[in-house]
Amino acid sequence: MYKLIDGKLISTTIKDELKQEVADKNIKATLAVIQVGNDPASSVYVGNKKKACEYIGIGSKSFELPEETTEEELLKLIDELNADDSINGILVQLPVPKHIDDEKIINRISPLKDVDGFHPESVGNLCIGQEGFVSCTPAGIIELLKRSDVSIEGKECVVIGRSNIVGKPMALLLLANNGTVTVCHSRTKDLKKVCKRADILVAAVGKPKMITAEYVKEGAVVIDVGIHRMDNGKLCGDVDFDDVAPHTSAITPVPGGVGPMTIAMLMVNCVKAAKRR
Ligand code: NAD
Repeated sequence: MYKLIDGKLISTTIKDELKQEVADKNIKATLAVIQVGNDPASSVYVGNKKKACEYIGIGSKSFELPEETTEEELLKLIDELNADDSINGILVQLPVPKHIDDEKIINRISPLKDVDGFHPESVGNLCIGQEGFVSCTPAGIIELLKRSDVSIEGKECVVIGRSNIVGKPMALLLLANNGTVTVCHSRTKDLKKVCKRADILVAAVGKPKMITAEYVKEGAVVIDVGIHRMDNGKLCGDVDFDDVAPHTSAITPVPGGVGPMTIAMLMVNCVKAAKRR
């Protein structure tokens, strides 16, 4: 029988720990959240981030900018927030409208306030094992594994996906935890065979239910990063849960697995930013 890794429960535990720490140490932190345009999914994410700030007892300041905001205007706002001592963390909700270069935006956020962990300096620190902000989704996956007593050391870890926000930092974090890591992507030959080696398989491929039992070694731990809305309105992941779960020793569900961890780790980064200052 497999273990269901409960991301909702673990994320709540983390937020409760942070709430306690913020109160005990009288930590004063404020997160600036910038949204350009009014994409409904982005609005939901932004709303959830603000709610999480409120829950753990830190401030949030919202900047809801119109769709036609120019790149220069957004960069100017980031400069102001970088210089504002009352702001500890800056988050620009992605995606930004097409006329804005997201790389330029990410690079402009001070690495001291880069709570999303996307700045090249943050990624570089992660790469060479130095202190810095780590991208929230992969950091959340490491917490899920640790708090579910899944040891990473010496394990064959296979990550499917090499995006800058999930796949690559995930691989670096697994490596930092002494896993033996393979990164697969759209050009990988014989993906099934490579995945079948994994003791820990992380699917961040962005294709609904692509990972079936054929990709999974008996007794593996499977982490599903994907989130997709199906025609029936329900959510599913990159993993075909019903097919795969019986072959695993532990697996994350969608929803209620990796998703809630992303916001919890954002809160971890906000508190860390306030403490670093
Ligand atoms: P992405 O599209 O940027 O990257 C997908 C990766 O998968 C690419 O590196 C690509 O090479 C690889 N890939 C695509 N097709 C493949 C194939 N057939 N075989 C092997 N590799 C293939 O996506 P992303 O931003 O990394 O996100 C991945 C998934 O995770 C998406 O479903 C996204 O919605 C979800 N996501 C969830 C959270 C969360 O909080 N739970 C956060 C970020 C992303």
